[in-house]
This record gives sequence, structure tokens and C-alpha cells, in this order.
Amino acid sequence: MSHSYDLIIVGGGLTGLTAAYRAQQRGWKFLLLEASERLGGSLETLHSDGLLQELGAESMVTAKPWGKDLILELGLGDQLVSPQPEFHKTLIVRGGQLVPIPEGLRLLAPSQWIPFLRSPAVSWLGKLRMGLEFFVKPRQDVRDESLASFVRRRLGKEALERIAQPMVAGIYTADPETLSMRATLPQFLEYERKYGSVCRGLLLSPEARASRGPRYHLFNSLKGGFGQLIQALRARLPDESIRCGRPVGHIRPLEDGWQVDGETAPRLLLAAPTYAMADLLRPFDAPAASLLQKQEYLSSATVNLGYPLTAADAATRGYGFVVPAVEGRDILACTFSHRKYPERTPPDMALLRTYVGGASRPEAMAWNDEEMIARSHMELSRLLKIGEPPISAVVKRYVRAMPLYRVGHLEWLSTLEDCLARWPGLGWAGNAYRGVGIPDCVRSANEAVARLG
Ligand SMILES: Cc1cc2nc3c(=O)[nH]c(=O)nc-3n(C[C@H](O)[C@H](O)[C@H](O)COP(=O)(O)OP(=O)(O)OC[C@H]3O[C@@H](n4cnc5c(N)ncnc54)[C@H](O)[C@@H]3O)c2cc1C
Repeated sequence: MSHSYDLIIVGGGLTGLTAAYRAQQRGWKFLLLEASERLGGSLETLHSDGLLQELGAESMVTAKPWGKDLILELGLGDQLVSPQPEFHKTLIVRGGQLVPIPEGLRLLAPSQWIPFLRSPAVSWLGKLRMGLEFFVKPRQDVRDESLASFVRRRLGKEALERIAQPMVAGIYTADPETLSMRATLPQFLEYERKYGSVCRGLLLSPEARASRGPRYHLFNSLKGGFGQLIQALRARLPDESIRCGRPVGHIRPLEDGWQVDGETAPRLLLAAPTYAMADLLRPFDAPAASLLQKQEYLSSATVNLGYPLTAADAATRGYGFVVPAVEGRDILACTFSHRKYPERTPPDMALLRTYVGGASRPEAMAWNDEEMIARSHMELSRLLKIGEPPISAVVKRYVRAMPLYRVGHLEWLSTLEDCLARWPGLGWAGNAYRGVGIPDCVRSANEAVARLG
């Protein structure tokens, strides 16, 4: 049969848009269908009153090159910005006070011991236990384990509660008791396997040695925020190839392709969350739908609060802070947006972005906007001693936007891939599979389009 398109893409977040751009490069006629009125999914930048406010993702790691490569390819190289070196410091809450995260800490453990030993972020007993990690026997069992089990086993309870949990919650918003080690932090398993110790791996491995010293330049944003990336992708795609504002309701396999809400193509790429994919596949592939449905998602929200700089100047000389769940506070983390990247606010304003919800505070998603603002402000006023109310506030909710990579995630993925492989011309990509970050999503889209040939 003659098809209306070469490729149909479902989902217009970063993954779907990157896939569309790759299709365009291949000279394919494609159609991208996005449920909401807005493209970009979890990437969203708001410009208002002289403020640049990141509502969703705010930083991209460049150690995984695919995000930066895409930005360079789009001609946005001169728009890349790094965190401002003069504010190079991140804080952590301990006993209701903010203390600096020691230089050289690598998510779970130190790569430099002198700053770590001097740091108040962990007690002396906790430090001693972490130091004993050099002598903890490597686990022989190759089955997946939770991040919490790994950290407790190797580095101790305090390292889990005071370091690993808050650092990892800032990325995955997940509970470390459920998070798969193999799917999220395989490099630490590799240190254990190869060097017999995470701490030794962080001292001796070539990649750890290569990334020694300050790492702030390994994170990037764009001058215009990540909304600029979405706009740049959108600008390269023909208007008629994009339809927003209606969720795809039906897909149907044909003998030689796919029918999607009345349109047809030999190839279909699903770049929507797995629960949306499950609904679409259920009528003709119940086993795949039930596998897709198993992937859980977490919800979170960001609250951007603007203050006069004078109210928050001295306390916000850094990039922000993370909050261990054991501190029992209402926010997971906070970015000092007016410090982290340049020119995000007028010179007399501070912009503080709190991160709310996630696995440790799911009940926060039931708070209305006023309550989210009030609770965020209350935490900031206590921790940063801000004595004035915010002069601007923007709440953004991301409901079921962050996939939870449970223990066994990679086995789930391999079963899913085998299951979906029976459908020729079907591709899938996004944050639910092999990484949740911006570079991971770009890579996922690149590879999915390449596989579709
Ligand atoms: C609050 C927050 C902060 C984050 N911070 C960072 C960060 O700082 N750095 C980083 O690297 N990563 C960060 N991430 C993760 C990263 O932003 C996301 O993983 C990534 O943007 C996901 O892109 P995606 O296109 O795969 O999915 P999404 O952005 O979720 O897009 C999926 C799209 O599919 C659409 N859709 C759903 N159902 C249908 C349907 N039936 N028909 C048509 N369309 C449909 C949705 O409307 C949505 O637009 C953050 C995520 C969140 C939520």
C-alpha cells in the first residue's frame, strides 16, 4: 500500500523531536504527534519579567556526549554555558544546617580524601566506616541489587543516608531501596569488580583520574535554557510534519506498516511514556502492554521563587543544595539559579528553584500551588535565613514523568525488547530504557531511528 508518511513519531518531548530531526536528515517524510499543546515534555523554559526560569531539566552532563553533540550539530555551540566558576560549591543539609559537599565527592564516595575528612557532611564514625570500604570484600553474586543495598554493604548506613540518597534523589527522585544499581550506576559496580573497592576505583581507574579536579565544567546548559534546544529542533522541522494538542488514541499494525489515528507509515516510533505505549499496544499485543505497564513513574514538581538579591545574597554563594530524606524536610533540593548559570536574572534578583515530591515525599504532589510555594519558601527562609516573602513564584508539576529504574530493570528491558522485536517497523525510545538524562534521551532517539533503517 502507499503510505502517507515514511515514519510516524508518537511523543514530542526531547526524544521525539530528536528522532524527527534525524528522520528529516534522512530525507524521510514524517509526522510527529504530540498530546499536549506544547513541545518539549520535561524540557521547558519560561522567560518572564527578565527571569529565565527552567521549569524542567536544568543541566546536562557532557561526559555522555550525545546531548552536546546534538547542540553542536544544531549550530548552538556558542550558546553553551557552564556553571559560573566563582560560585563553584554545592551544599547539603545536615542537622538543619547547610554544609558544603566536599570537593571530589563522586555521588557515593570520595575521590579525594583530605577534603572529605575535613568535611562536616559526614560524622567521624561515618567517615571511618567509609574508609573501611577499601577492605570490604567484593560481592560475587552478579545479580542486580538496589543502590541502598550496595551502599550499605560497601560504605555503610551513614554514607547511604547522608550522601548517596540525597545525591541520587536529585537525579532520579527515587528511593535507593528500589533503584537498580546495574541500570543507574554500573560504573561503581565495575570499580568493585575490577579494583575490589569503589574508593580504590575512584582513585586508580583511568576515567576517575581523568576527571579529577573541579567538575563543574562537565555540566552545561544553553544561554536561553533548554527551551532553546527545543526551539532549535522545532525550527528545523516543517510545520506540516508536527501536530500538537491531541494524544494518539489508536495504533494498528498493517501488513506492511502501521496505522496511527488514520495516518499510515511503514515505520512507527513510540517516544511517549511506557504507560501511554501500553494503552496503544494493548488491543493487539496484550503481553507487550502488560510489560510496558510494569514500568513505574515518579512525579515531582519544581517551584521557582524570585527574591530581592539583598534577601539571599550571602547565603546563596554556590550552585544550590540537596536534602537527605532523613532530615524530614519538604524539599528535595534547591538550585541557586541566579548563581549557577550566567544572566538568568536581573542583577538585583535571586532566583531559587526547589525540587519537590519524588519517592521520598509523594504526598507533596497533593499540595496545591499555594502550599507548594509556602512550604518551599518556609524551607528556604529557615535554611538560608531569607526574611522576606518571594516576589515571584512559578510552580510546575511533572506527573509520572520520571521512570523508576527498579532492581531488575535491565532484565525487564531485555524481555521487553524481545517482545517488541516481533513487530517489524516498530521503534521505541525515551527515558524509560537506558538512562533518564538529556544525553541518554538523545542517544536513544538516534539509535532508534538508525535501527528503523
Ligand atoms: C523536573 C525534572 C527535572 C529534570 N532535570 C534534568 C536535568 O537537570 N538534567 C537531565 O539530563 N535530565 C533531567 N530530567 C530528565 C529529562 O529531562 C527527561 O528524562 C527527558 O526530557 C525526557 O524526554 P522524553 O522525550 O523521553 O520524554 P518526555 O519529556 O516525558 O516527553 C514525552 C512526550 O510524549 C507525550 N505523550 C504522552 N502520551 C502521548 C500520546 N498518547 N500521544 C502523543 N504524545 C504523547 C507527552 O505529552 C510528552 O510531551 C528532568 C526531568 C524532570 C521531570
